[in-house]
Amino acid sequence: MHVSIQGGVSTAITRGAALNCHAIQIFSHSSRTWAGPEIPDAEVVRFKTLHRTLGMGPILVHASYLINAATCDPDKRKKSRKALQEDWILSNRLGVSGLVLHPGSSAGQSVESAIARVGEMVREVLETPVAGRTRLLLENTAGGGKTLGRNPAELESLFKTIGHPSRTGLCLDSCHLYAAGFDISNETGYEKTLQDFCRVAPGGVSAWHLNDALFGLGSGRDRHTHLGIGYIGPWFFWKLLKDPRFRGCPMILETPKTDGEREDRLNLATLSILEQQPEFEGDSPSLRAGLSALASER
Ligand SMILES: [Zn+2]
Ligand SMILES: [Zn+2]
Repeated sequence: MHVSIQGGVSTAITRGAALNCHAIQIFSHSSRTWAGPEIPDAEVVRFKTLHRTLGMGPILVHASYLINAATCDPDKRKKSRKALQEDWILSNRLGVSGLVLHPGSSAGQSVESAIARVGEMVREVLETPVAGRTRLLLENTAGGGKTLGRNPAELESLFKTIGHPSRTGLCLDSCHLYAAGFDISNETGYEKTLQDFCRVAPGGVSAWHLNDALFGLGSGRDRHTHLGIGYIGPWFFWKLLKDPRFRGCPMILETPKTDGEREDRLNLATLSILEQQPEFEGDSPSLRAGLSALASER
């Protein structure tokens, strides 16, 4: 589950553990600002101790949405590089497994030159000396506007340009796949899509973002909804949980939160009902009850 860091980054681990999560994702600070307060060493120690003692598995940090590693604007470029570098250093200090980054937007330039700019900035950040072993995970995008990373070809050339195969990886977001026109809601579309995307990064898929899509196939709109009640529907999430290619791969929910933890618990319950089904049963009473509770939250 993506969880809040209100009260300090270490509180996120307690929140995730209270939800029985084995993997969590956090923002290092508000995702709509360039920088957050300096995180003291004592808080980093608290974070690492809780990570170990509460038995939490993989933790991801999601980089600020303001960062655009492809921008041509010199001021925005300077700010983006600094923010990305700060998140990279912090992620390594915290000892998390991945830092998730949206590749950027190619506005005002060709896709090729945008990819080259991303490569230059990300390489420079990855070459910052750090003691940790965090991987930088590029996330596929919903395909709206000029966002980069909407299809396997763009992601593949981003990874080639960046290099550093042992420090990079791919994070796939199910809502973004669907919004970008990849129909993962049925067997044929699922297999084709995953074969194509699994090939783009040297290490395959390092993490998943599990979100249903609020808008239709190919909408280009990055709007998440609760698992099983959007356009993707429950079959995909059942299929993914059973897919041996992703065993052990962190899967993070970034579903809407409007009502404390109630929706988080309902989404997690949906996954656990699906996980317990040897064959997909869309009409199981417990699944139907969970989905209708989620639908009423919209
Ligand atoms: Zn995502
Ligand atoms: Zn999204």
